[in-house]
Amino acid sequence: MFHKYNAKFCSECGAPTILEIPEGDNRERSVCSNCKAIHYINPKVVIGCIVESSDNKILLCKRAIEPRYGYWTVPAGFLEIGETLEEGAKRETFEEACAKVTIGHLFASVDIVYAGQVHMFFTAKLNGEHAAGEESLESALFSEKDIPWGEIAFKSGIFALEKYFQDQGENHGVHHHEVKRNILMT
Ligand code: ZN
Repeated sequence: MFHKYNAKFCSECGAPTILEIPEGDNRERSVCSNCKAIHYINPKVVIGCIVESSDNKILLCKRAIEPRYGYWTVPAGFLEIGETLEEGAKRETFEEACAKVTIGHLFASVDIVYAGQVHMFFTAKLNGEHAAGEESLESALFSEKDIPWGEIAFKSGIFALEKYFQDQGENHGVHHHEVKRNILMT
């Protein structure tokens, strides 16, 4: 079922891999047919934040990239090696919305098992200006009543926005959820 996440070739020596259960393990891994290196492939972390301006509006970005080109999203993206969740959230917000933020608390996590991803969201406050970054067509601030719910790119972002408004600025811990498909099928 999850074989598309296996490594086809060995990153150590370049030889093809084969799927087998290594000794002492309990599931199939990509094992190099030549050097026997075992390639573990684990879920990726997407980190993002719900950014609120001083006049209580929420920062959204219109995506200039696939998937979901032209849909609105909260600033979020893949965590990079060498950074903390907080650093990743700040970096993604700067890349997508040219915005500097002060990170608050972690408040939402979403399992997306079929895609091999975990999405996590912080609260954040906007410091100063915002503008469309390279991955965005535009950035904009929306009051709660003007959020374009039908044009939000990913269900994980919708969940984060819903819980953000539900919490009303208070820390109610981390809301957790699983989505079976992360996009709304039209
Ligand atoms: Zn190898």
